[in-house]
Amino acid sequence: MRIVLDRAKCTGIGICEALAPTVFEVDDNGELVVLSTEVPEEAQNEVTEAVEGCPTMALRLQS
Ligand code: SF4
Repeated sequence: MRIVLDRAKCTGIGICEALAPTVFEVDDNGELVVLSTEVPEEAQNEVTEAVEGCPTMALRLQS
């Protein structure tokens, strides 16, 4: 599965980073960096939570 970010919707709050810090990182400019667009096997649950927890629905998963 791949992570697709709609940057126009992302406000950089970082809930995704809090839920899945190995995959998401908000940089010093408040820009979200997706560290791995391919979801690592061991991080699938937390990435799913992050996608569902994004308040602006900026994230989705694509198989
Ligand atoms: S939770 Fe959503 S809006 Fe917040 S930084 Fe992550 S993708 Fe962007």
